[in-house]
Amino acid sequence: MRSCNSFRTHRCRPQTTLSGIATGLGLIATALMATVAISPALATPAHVAPCPRPGTLGTSRVLEVDVSTTPRVGLQSFPETLPLADHEVVLTFDDGPFPPTTSKVLSALAQECVRATYFLIGEHVAEHPDIVRRIAAEGHTVATHTWSHPNIMQIKHEAAVEQIDHGISALETVLHGKATTIPTTPFFRFPGFQSTPETLDLLQSRGIVVFGSDLWASDWNKMTPKEELKLITDRLEAAGKGIILFHDTKSHTAAMMPAFLRYLRDNGYHVVHVKPAEPAAPLAH
Ligand SMILES: [Zn+2]
Repeated sequence: MRSCNSFRTHRCRPQTTLSGIATGLGLIATALMATVAISPALATPAHVAPCPRPGTLGTSRVLEVDVSTTPRVGLQSFPETLPLADHEVVLTFDDGPFPPTTSKVLSALAQECVRATYFLIGEHVAEHPDIVRRIAAEGHTVATHTWSHPNIMQIKHEAAVEQIDHGISALETVLHGKATTIPTTPFFRFPGFQSTPETLDLLQSRGIVVFGSDLWASDWNKMTPKEELKLITDRLEAAGKGIILFHDTKSHTAAMMPAFLRYLRDNGYHVVHVKPAEPAAPLAH
């Protein structure tokens, strides 16, 4: 077991061996069979070959985040953020799932072999479990964003705790068949970034990392995909790197995503996939 630093990274290497190719072919066959079993609207397009794939943006590395040293990240809300290098971005999507637009965003990510992080609303998770399972099956990090998206600052602490727990148990029920309030992926984002000192302390004590954001597309506003692309690429050029917030529930964001990923590829950006740090190994004695 490796030592437990706050952030550990490892590169994602392409599989180029014969066994890798054979595994890839097996995966295609499995994917085709799975496509028959699930709703066509939710299936990954059959023509998309397995990742990594030459000519795509790809995911450049995995960054493991440890609550014990970094309980909160995102410069829009906190003094600290993830240790990203210049031209590195983390893609995050809030408020889903909403099948019509979430499926388009997932297809755009799959087309470019990119992995992202989703902060899902519990009510939507309970309503659309199939697409939640698709998000997880395609390798994205799946975390929570409360049960029904209230402003946590405007409700009582007990109600805030219930919102957090209900969101977690809804996701755990769909992905792992168990209504637990201990999240498999201990990441959380507050609706509207509205938190209280008590809820921040509670999440830290429960080992859950709070994600803010470094920059966003302001896609809660009405705009065309072209306007959104200009806005987010201008902001990214100014920031140079960061955790980016989108909403996969917005049709302009879903429509813009292929062009945005192409922009990242053409301009030398690298996508970093965040995951929870592995628990520290027990000390030998
Ligand atoms: Zn939200």
